[in-house]
Amino acid sequence: MEFIGDIMAGMAVDTSELHHLAERRVRDAELVYTKGRRELVELLAGLSRPATMPELVEQRPKLTLSSMYRNMTDLEVVGVVQKVIGTDEHTRYELSEDLIGHHHHSICTECGSIDDFVVAASTERSLTAALERALSESGFRPTGHRLDAVGICADCAS
Ligand SMILES: [Zn+2]
Ligand SMILES: [Zn+2]
Repeated sequence: MEFIGDIMAGMAVDTSELHHLAERRVRDAELVYTKGRRELVELLAGLSRPATMPELVEQRPKLTLSSMYRNMTDLEVVGVVQKVIGTDEHTRYELSEDLIGHHHHSICTECGSIDDFVVAASTERSLTAALERALSESGFRPTGHRLDAVGICADCAS
């Protein structure tokens, strides 16, 4: 069985299952899961971090940037991919969290790179409890969270 990523701890989503889920979402929107769309899902699945469009093109020089942008936008609209906001002007994309599992991002303020990381389930429970406590007075009921670590990546630190 082929597993996506290498640090996707606890996210045992195999690639064929991923394509199956992605195709269903694309078809539900009455679109076709074309080779180009499939290829983008494949590329993103092979990374353990959000990627910019130029980074993806580098891996598939045969694909044209304009069609990749079109496909990426379609995949975003149907909920297969999501945009990730960093500290620089680049737009990065990753597979939707409900497809690959809940995780967090570490964002480098020097070079702008973003990596995925996961925290232990017990820590997730503590985070959830802390957010509920912090928000209890306001009447806001958190159903999830996005937590980014901001700092200096290993490359920039060395
Ligand atoms: Zn960096
Ligand atoms: Zn979390």
